[in-house]
Amino acid sequence: DTAEKKPQKTFHSFFAPKTEPKVEDTSSEDKKSSDDKSVKKACLSEKKEHGGYDPAKSNYHPIEDAVWTRNEKVPYLALAKTFEAIENISGRLKTIEILSNFFRSVIALSSSDLVQCVYMCLNKLAPAYEGLELGIGETVLMKAIAQATGRGIDKIKADAQEKGDLGLVAETSRSSQRTMFAPPKLTVPAVFNKLKEIAGMSGNAAMTKKIEKIKGMFVACRQCEARYLIRSLGGKLRIGLAEQSVLTALGNAVFRTPPGQEFPPEVLDAGKGMGADTLKKKMEECTLVIKTTYCECPNYDAIIPALIKYGIEELPNHCKLTPGVPLKPMLAHPTKGVSEVFKRFDEADFTCEYKYDGERAQIHILENGEVHIYSRNSENNTSKYPDIIARIPKVRNDSVTSCVIDSEAVAWDAEKKQIQPFQVLSHRKRKDADASEIKIQVCVYAFDLLYLNGKSLVKEPFRKRRELLHSSFKEVEGEFVFAKSMISSNTDEIAEFLDESVKGNCEGLMVKTLDVDATYEIAKRSHNWLKLKKDYLDGVGDTLDLVVMGGFLGTGKRTGKYGGFLLGCYDEENEEFQSICKIGTGFTDADLEKHATFFKDHVTEKPKPYYRYDSSVEPDHWFDAVQVWEVKCADLSISPTHLAAAGIVDPEKGISLRFPRFLRIRDDKKAEDATSASQVAELYKSQQQIQNQQKSEKEDVEDFY
Ligand code: AMP
Repeated sequence: DTAEKKPQKTFHSFFAPKTEPKVEDTSSEDKKSSDDKSVKKACLSEKKEHGGYDPAKSNYHPIEDAVWTRNEKVPYLALAKTFEAIENISGRLKTIEILSNFFRSVIALSSSDLVQCVYMCLNKLAPAYEGLELGIGETVLMKAIAQATGRGIDKIKADAQEKGDLGLVAETSRSSQRTMFAPPKLTVPAVFNKLKEIAGMSGNAAMTKKIEKIKGMFVACRQCEARYLIRSLGGKLRIGLAEQSVLTALGNAVFRTPPGQEFPPEVLDAGKGMGADTLKKKMEECTLVIKTTYCECPNYDAIIPALIKYGIEELPNHCKLTPGVPLKPMLAHPTKGVSEVFKRFDEADFTCEYKYDGERAQIHILENGEVHIYSRNSENNTSKYPDIIARIPKVRNDSVTSCVIDSEAVAWDAEKKQIQPFQVLSHRKRKDADASEIKIQVCVYAFDLLYLNGKSLVKEPFRKRRELLHSSFKEVEGEFVFAKSMISSNTDEIAEFLDESVKGNCEGLMVKTLDVDATYEIAKRSHNWLKLKKDYLDGVGDTLDLVVMGGFLGTGKRTGKYGGFLLGCYDEENEEFQSICKIGTGFTDADLEKHATFFKDHVTEKPKPYYRYDSSVEPDHWFDAVQVWEVKCADLSISPTHLAAAGIVDPEKGISLRFPRFLRIRDDKKAEDATSASQVAELYKSQQQIQNQQKSEKEDVEDFY
């Protein structure tokens, strides 16, 4: 074997086992000559030795360009190299192609590792509702790095301050380490399982045990592995890879290299010889199937094995909406006023509902009688709402054996019999609430039914879903009520209904199509639900949910705190946060205090690489993208400095907010759930339309006189 005769240079390889893992003998299946094979084997060893995996290669071959062989566990180095390639490249399409190449190799060679690979790309361990999360504190990670490398913790801390990324520090610290025997190479399943073990550790001595486990993996790290291992452990992989891109890469991969084939696979690239447009269309079809399936059943432990076993066409028949597994909630689109509603819905019949201001509650009644409640982000909120669970038997009709209700849980003043503001609800205990100790009462406002007695309703029109909701449940005042609604196409009536909703402590209206385009849309951002907020009543004021990117040190009364902040929206296309405004109003003293304390732990030495801003708005402190604020503004304008939605409305300039005011923290939203760049562009455009419309109405009147 040529690989064995190569000069042994490093200390590690001197002690390394003499033989490389064997290339599996596939002679019965593989028709190629043995000469051919030994050359390939040598190349393979060469690549392994140097970790020369390149998923960005053009004309990527899922078997020949992989650095591992059939049925071998996927080397962690291949994944780390994929991350590195993604991190080094900008642009969503290229990112997807790189990841899809890696997935194709996994599918062709080690398909049972695919699920772990997907989780690692998402920096997740399990579905959100299982609540198993990474996010090991920096101190623990620093200790582990210090102990594994023999470097002082102070040095590591100083390096981390300077580099702003503990992963990089880990990678560069690694070289000073010496071990007698090279530990076995890391594989994706082994790393994933260890991460899971670490996340599950609690109680006495958990910290020491975690450090031991981390050290064990760390000493086995090669090349860039340490960087991504440490970042994954911290729960901050941050390579610019959003979940939607991972799903797209998966869709593309299964089209080109279909799973479930005999080895060697007959079809390694189904796209070969296909025109670019056809290929794109085919890959999009597969991606849509995966995304839709994921929305109804957001559990990779179910989806990936089914995909491997049954293939993409059969996937939807094996992973369906199931009570007990939260589905992604349908989201609404903001509008600028009643006239926009008419324009968007054209001739379609629609209904208006009160938009309640509380917390989304997806209530699942399981066949076995259990009731689960999930949040907007699919977290398990069951133990937060024992009071809701207790009232289900009296509101459900006997005909209901299983179902999924979509609703809003709203704080309720039982004495005054009225809805309380959102802030009240946020004071409720988040977990393990004891029904007898609950002080803040909630009323459930049910607005949709997504599943009933073994059947998914998401493809049914809203009119039917709502009828079924009303006929399957009974209302009980202050406990379980149907969202107040009306059907009208009269502008004045709608405006009046909006006014009433606001007086009743609601946020405004949700406007929904009834028959046409009225399915429960989860895979795409839909325009079937429009929100009409109270701010639109007075014609000015949009609210946006924005990420806090950095802080400006306060002066005068605000000395010692932040006096202002830099906010940004999220650009889904480029997976980056783009600055949209500086904000300094709307804060109470208590708010400022709270923000100063909170962001103290999230200051970063340098701006994150996925922040886009102009140097003229650079804050004193940069923050990690960890909090979303709801902000109100007078209007939006084209900006000489801010970069929100740059390239959409204007080829270069971005959009900024005028007179932004802080309203509240949106704890229920993650940074990537912030208002998107395309929404910002739409808000800007619709504002222009309305202004033009108002102007032309005025001109009409003036012309007349
Ligand atoms: P927003 O978070 O501002 O985009 O508005 C959408 C949210 O409004 C949903 O996620 C629900 O939590 C909430 N909501 C309140 N009332 C309704 C309703 N009648 N229909 C749909 N969503 C509602």
